[in-house]
Amino acid sequence: MAVPKRKQSKARKGWRQTHQVEHVKSITSCLNCQSPLNTHQACKACGFYKGVKVLTTKAERAVKRGQAQQVKEARNAAARENQTLEASAETTSEKN
Ligand SMILES: [Zn+2]
Repeated sequence: MAVPKRKQSKARKGWRQTHQVEHVKSITSCLNCQSPLNTHQACKACGFYKGVKVLTTKAERAVKRGQAQQVKEARNAAARENQTLEASAETTSEKN
């Protein structure tokens, strides 16, 4: 087994450990909504980066999905009404 020849000095140990520092992340606030934000990253709250819209946020996607659902429901309701109108027209034509 390899054994160190000499004890490593405190100074040498200190020099080696100078890089083992936990760096504090710098935090800024969003220009658009003032929410806390890591630097050089787009805001997750509003989707802006340096004053430009670059992301669609989770809330916006949910709203969009809700609107799509409403459109789909309206189409289905219209289709059902058309079907019932056609059926009633067929029954009246059969009677005449
Ligand atoms: Zn923001």
